[in-house]
Formats: sequence, structure tokens, C-alpha cells
Amino acid sequence: MSVAREQLVVMKFGGTSVEDAKAMGRTAAIVGGRRKKGLETIVVVSAMAKVTDQLLAAAAAAGRGDKAGAMAISARLRNRHTDTATELLDAARFAALEPAIHMEFDALDDLLRGIAAVGELTARTSDLVVSFGERLSSRMVAAAFDQHGLSGVHVDARTCIITDANYGKAVPQGGAIEAKLAEFVLPLIEVGKTPVMGGFIGSTVEGITTTLGRGGSDYTAALVGGGLHAGAIEIWTDVNGIMTTDPRIVPEALRVKSISFEEAAELAYFGAKVLHPATILPAVQKSIPVWVLNSRNAENEGTKITAVAPHCRSPFKCIAAKKKLTIIDIVASRMLMSHGYLKAVFDVLDRYKCVVDMVSTSEVSISLTVDSNERLPEIVEELSKIADVKMEGNKALICMVGEDIRGHNGIAGQVFSAVSHVNVRMISQGASEINMSFMIDEEDVEEAVRSLHRNFFADPDAAIFDVEARVAAGTTA
Ligand code: ASP
Ligand code: MG
Repeated sequence: MSVAREQLVVMKFGGTSVEDAKAMGRTAAIVGGRRKKGLETIVVVSAMAKVTDQLLAAAAAAGRGDKAGAMAISARLRNRHTDTATELLDAARFAALEPAIHMEFDALDDLLRGIAAVGELTARTSDLVVSFGERLSSRMVAAAFDQHGLSGVHVDARTCIITDANYGKAVPQGGAIEAKLAEFVLPLIEVGKTPVMGGFIGSTVEGITTTLGRGGSDYTAALVGGGLHAGAIEIWTDVNGIMTTDPRIVPEALRVKSISFEEAAELAYFGAKVLHPATILPAVQKSIPVWVLNSRNAENEGTKITAVAPHCRSPFKCIAAKKKLTIIDIVASRMLMSHGYLKAVFDVLDRYKCVVDMVSTSEVSISLTVDSNERLPEIVEELSKIADVKMEGNKALICMVGEDIRGHNGIAGQVFSAVSHVNVRMISQGASEINMSFMIDEEDVEEAVRSLHRNFFADPDAAIFDVEARVAAGTTA
């Protein structure tokens, strides 16, 4: 039997969607719903919520030589996984899975003892420790799917997700992955199974375990979807997709039905933590739509992310705010922007691994905004050797994103009249021309965001925003 690629959907469930037996049950119901519609499903799961952090803590403890600390964390994780499996599975399926869970934990314990004995944790070994989270969750979810009549079958992601040996942030090898998926996963789909694989983990061609970096399960889903030329990728989380702004600030915020990859990328950078767009690039490049959906509210249509933005009547799709920023004003008194000056400034920032959000320059000065961090006083001290430096904390960046900014004249005027009552410090329109950002005092964020939202989302385009939900809730902008 051959598989119609449009009928193929890769469904990724994050840590909260597999955090306990109840969540895993919800996940099974969602996958069942897709199969009832005649779709072929492939499932990618994260580790159970918080497990990755705990494995990293165990690895770090072992690396310090604290064997008891590492073993205690592992013992707690073993209990959590076996307890969840007991609740999740019927007696026969639990009996079949239990030895596999213990085998994994025995291997983890051996590894932690080894690390503690040497007292040294390498990046390679850390990847191996942390891989147990997804190895375990995927086995459990596969067994649950089998019990729910979804023909779940576990696939060790490391047999398919081939990467280089850059431990901790390994780079996937597209061609090799496509070949492995065709060899190991496609035949399972062809006989009507639901392959279940852990996200985040992979291996080198030599078979050494690697990871794709934190939050890497979305990346796995995009790689699997891209490699199999799937019809869609669904990222199931615990929010209703991407919203016009933070609903805690603006209760009338609307779900954005459809957004471009570029817009989502700008938003992620400004702190909207739904997903990291770089990780879905393998799908976007193949024009496979990526949906962000809510596993606690499966009826909701979520947000569709596509390579090309559909036309929108209003200039903006979203307003994001990033707090806890500091402005550094650097005035080059002596060197007057001479050759190499900017480099000298950025070298200092680089040395302290200080992330810069926004830069604006004039003839003799540079203003930078940076994430507040405890090393700022040292950074200022170093910069003071080459310039006069002033620092101002408690700032926030407001970022307005939308591809349709391009077609609208006079947008800046409208934005600034909406916030005319707050003090605006730095303004920039990104080179991408799809965002407009400015700096204000942290205490003005709520007021500014509300005012902007009132101005730009009073009459939303129903093709792009979920206006029905606003009508149903009886609220207006
Ligand atoms: N479990 C991994 C993490 O917490 C990967 C993921 O959840 O996407 O970073
Ligand atoms: Mg995640």
C-alpha cells in the first residue's frame, strides 16, 4: 500500500501534553480523532514535563562527584515513570512495558555512577543522560496508543534522526534522515501503524547519542514531516495558538488564525514563547504548513504557520512586549566612531555573552538595549575604558509585527499617537520591514499595549483573526 502524502500528519506533543497518565490519555484521544478523519498519523513526543531539567540536574550532580544526589534524582524519576505507566496501562500492557522501563533506568544509573566515579561530565555524556527522558516517554505513549486501538508502535528516534557530533546542539543531516525514515518509518505507516518517536534525540552515523538542543522536539517533528513530505505538522501545546497579544494584559486579545514564518520568527525573538521558528524551518522550506494547537482545548483551530503570509487588512498581526531590559548609552568622546570602534564595543559584549536586542547610533553615540544581567556593572566598567557610558534599567521593548506594514503609509504616526502619553526612548524598524519596535519604561507596558491593541485591533480582519471567539465571549476591543 502506498501512502498519500497529503493524508500524512506529524503530531508533536510537548512535555505538558504527556506530563501524566491523564495528559497521555488526552493525547491518545486527539490522535484517535485524526485517524477517524482518515489521516495517517506519526507522533513525536517530548519527555514528560520537567524530566529534561531533572536529568540535567542528575548529570550535573554526578559530574561534581555527588553520586548520592544523582541517584536520588534518578530514583524519583523511576518512580514517577512506573507510577504513570501503572495508571496509564492495563495489567497486561503494564507487565509488558515494566521491564523496559527498568532496563532504561538501570542503564541510566550505571551511567550516572560512571560519571560520578570520574567526576567529569562531557557534552557527549550529558546528551546520553538527557536522552532517557524522550526514550521513556515515547515507549509509554506507544503502549498507551496500542491500548487505545491506535496501533501505536515505538520507534527509537535515534535510528532515524542522524546528526553530526556537535553534542548539545547537534546538526541534523537531512539526506540521511530522509533515507532512514523511508527505511524504518514509512513501512509502518503503510500497514496502518502510528509510529511514536521521542523528539529532541538523535545519533551520529556511528550510533553515538546526540540531542538537538533544548526545545528540540519541535525540530524533530519538522524533520520527520519534511523527510516524509507530510501534508501537515501539528505542534500540540497548552495554549490556543498565537494570540494578538498577551491575554493577561488584554483580555480581548484574539487568536491569530494564520501567520507567516517570518512573522512568527520576529515574535519568538521578542519573547513570545510558543515555539522557536528556526526549529520548524525544515517544514517551511518544503511548504508544509505547521499548526500550533492546544491539547487541553482540542476543538480550537489554533494558528497555522505558512511560508507565505496571507493578505491581512490590518498592518499588524501581533504586539509583543519584552521586559527587564537595560539601555546602555555609549558616547565616544575621543575616538569619534573611528574605524574599529563598534567592533571594540561589541567585543566587550561578546566576551560577557551579553545579548543585544536593539541598536541605534548617531554620529558620536550608540544606544544598545540588553537583557538585564548581573554582569552589567562589569560590562559598563570595561566599556568605560573606551567611552562615556550611562546605563538605565527597568526598560521594556514593544514590538509590533506584521508583513502588511509594508503596504501602509503613515503607520509610525498612528503607532506613536496611540502611545503619545508614554515616554518613548528608542525606535527602530527592523531590516526585515515587518516589525516596528520601540523602548519604553517597564511600568508603562500594560497601558501602551492596551492602547495599541485598541487602536489596531478594533476592526479585525475576520480572515486572519478569530473574531467569532470575541463575539461569543461578548467582548469588544
Ligand atoms: N525535552 C526537551 C526539552 O525540555 C525537548 C523538548 O521538550 O522539546 O528541552
Ligand atoms: Mg517545547
